[in-house]
Amino acid sequence: MDNQVFLYNSLKGEKEKLEPLHEGRIGMYVCGPTVYSDVHLGNCRTFISFDMIYRYLSHLGYKVRYVRNITDAGHLEGDADEGEDKIAKKARLEALEPMEIVQRYTVDFRKVMGQFNALPPSIEPTATGHIIEQIEIIKTIIDNGLAYESNGSVYFDVEKYNEKHDYGILSKRKIEDLISNTRELDGQSEKRGRLDFALWKNASPTHIMRWPSPWGIGFPGWHLECTAMSTKYLGDQFDIHGGGMDLKFPHHECEIAQATATTGVNPVRYWLHANMLTLNGKKMSKSTGNTLLPAELFSGENDVLEKAYDPMVVRFFMMQAHYRSMLDFSSDALTASEKGFNKLMMAYADLVALKTSNESSEDVDALIASFYEAMNDDFNTPVLIAKMFEAVNWINKIKDGSATISKSDLQKLSDTMGAMIFDVLGLQTVEAGDNAVLEATMEIIMEIRKNAREQKDWTTSDLIRDKLSDAGINIKDSKEGASWSLN
Ligand code: AMP
Ligand code: ZN
Repeated sequence: MDNQVFLYNSLKGEKEKLEPLHEGRIGMYVCGPTVYSDVHLGNCRTFISFDMIYRYLSHLGYKVRYVRNITDAGHLEGDADEGEDKIAKKARLEALEPMEIVQRYTVDFRKVMGQFNALPPSIEPTATGHIIEQIEIIKTIIDNGLAYESNGSVYFDVEKYNEKHDYGILSKRKIEDLISNTRELDGQSEKRGRLDFALWKNASPTHIMRWPSPWGIGFPGWHLECTAMSTKYLGDQFDIHGGGMDLKFPHHECEIAQATATTGVNPVRYWLHANMLTLNGKKMSKSTGNTLLPAELFSGENDVLEKAYDPMVVRFFMMQAHYRSMLDFSSDALTASEKGFNKLMMAYADLVALKTSNESSEDVDALIASFYEAMNDDFNTPVLIAKMFEAVNWINKIKDGSATISKSDLQKLSDTMGAMIFDVLGLQTVEAGDNAVLEATMEIIMEIRKNAREQKDWTTSDLIRDKLSDAGINIKDSKEGASWSLN
């Protein structure tokens, strides 16, 4: 592999060189959605970030096995193993089978991912399809003395685990602080320690999602499914584990503890966390209702939107931010992204038809190298896009005759830009959308202006140029004729 990728490992708190456990192959696990309601744009941002990472690693030639689960059981409403199962609750409210809820929102999730042109993962396992594997892990943790049964439930013994290992290794929290910040157990508690978390929960008679186990009828704890499914498909140790920043604690911290308690080794080499999408400065979240749904964006039907946006414009907007930076949503920001997206796609379309010269006026190899440098630096898509806009400026100059490109350089640039735009950023040409309409309209306007100039009607010609300039379109007159480009 010629390209050296450096990625930010949350476990170490620094960037390090990607060195896969098996040469040329990468195992990557990303926590998937809990399928009890529509995915919002915040969820989509995390999955699109990892889609880009999957795409780039595949582009470099790695054989990536990408596992992203579907949480269809065990995710309770409360953080401390209390409250109802989110899916069971929705099923109860709508008088449906839990699996009808799961089916509806899984299908919807895949549809939305398709609209954003996110590639399907290599394996998409479900929690309910891996109950046996979860039970086996619990048995091993009990045998290893790090979990205990209590009234038909099984809890992970955090303090005992912490005697030999480090609970808090990922989230950089100290166990003493965690204990003092957690509610004291009351006399009724089944747990020995306040940080202990459920591996298995005894099902009350009304709990509809239930399975037999050595400890009685119950259901698995939420953190356990990811340990079971990641290690089943990727091995006891694998390369990359991802998810949104908000999953770092307790979910991922518990995953490390469970896997280490089972096998004795830390399961993951590189922990990657994608940052949050905010709306009005606050995290987009199902529980607070501060959300925007993809369908609302594509139809324009939400008060925060000035108009409808194409999924590719939304994807481009996300790619303009680094995956580890917070991103605030606004209609203005999306409109700016739409302009940028159109400008990039139009320049790319022009590129293939450019007139070539004997020599290039720019160093194409250096430009292409800068694309890869950006991506190798922890998948820095905003820098990649900025570098591609340098190419766009060059393309527009070649169009108006003030710069040149050789035939072989043109081939190189169009191949690499095509790969970056379509394969890595995962963008698609917007069919018959704004681009096509703009192209057709501009063709007519340029024709009218050409006629005016031939008749020496400079007033009309200048008026058209100035009005277009106000609208963000630049007209350039040269010996070869006039050309236009977006600002
Ligand atoms: P959930 O379905 O709630 O389990 O969330 C699915 C994924 O979306 C997880 O990786 C979360 O970390 C992520 N997520 C939730 N809210 C946001 C947000 N506002 N911005 C980005 N990612 C989010
Ligand atoms: Zn998970």
